[in-house]
Amino acid sequence: MVDLVESLNCSHCGAPLDLSPGEIIVTCRYCGSDVRIAGEKRFLLKHSMVATQYQEEAIRQVITSWMAGGAFRPDDLARSSRIESLECIYLPFYVFEVDASTTWRGVLSRTGQPFEKSGELRKDYFWKILGRRSSPFPTREYRLPLAAKTTFDMSQMVKGSKFLNAEMDEDEAKRLVEDEVTEHQKQLLLQEEVDDVIEAKTAVDVKDAEFVHAPIWFMRYSYRKKMYEMTVDGAAGEVIKADVPPPETGFGSLFSRR
Ligand SMILES: [Zn+2]
Repeated sequence: MVDLVESLNCSHCGAPLDLSPGEIIVTCRYCGSDVRIAGEKRFLLKHSMVATQYQEEAIRQVITSWMAGGAFRPDDLARSSRIESLECIYLPFYVFEVDASTTWRGVLSRTGQPFEKSGELRKDYFWKILGRRSSPFPTREYRLPLAAKTTFDMSQMVKGSKFLNAEMDEDEAKRLVEDEVTEHQKQLLLQEEVDDVIEAKTAVDVKDAEFVHAPIWFMRYSYRKKMYEMTVDGAAGEVIKADVPPPETGFGSLFSRR
């Protein structure tokens, strides 16, 4: 079934909305209002963005110094690689503040004679969900810099950056949070308490939710005729994740030199 789009104008300022198929929470480029494309409900989450001082030149320096420093990187990486594409994209995140409480029962066997334990694991989290469906972005590795949050303002964005609307709404994001936090709690039990979980019941209490756009740089570089990728946190100026070319050692490098 196809949802008919009733209006393609911002309900707040009347400006035309810029949206692509699959996007359901659309941010007005003029006034920053968020408009829900399908459904009656108004979108009420607080919307902010992550501020940054880093423009492209500074991000290029971050990339260059990452390439130049650090063990396990080829010595000539900075010298012999080339940046093939580099762009800044503001990605939409839902950030939830949650209390999680898991009552559990399990068996600890790693210390010798197996024995049963039980308890309650309570944690609180700021948990983020990327509001896009098929993105290669490494959400778990990214520490969204909430300290740099500021009022949403398109004019303060990185020059030449792109902007993405959300493809899921806050209700769907909340369901994902519940699933992910439940699974995370179970993994904590397996790391810290027991080797087998017999039973675990997790209650996830969402205390607060907000919508945040954050600048992320996506970079592709070539090195010795192969392509690699890197993502950089545009606010903190830190590499989030990067492909590292394998070292050229031993006979392989001799043979490949021909
Ligand atoms: Zn508007």
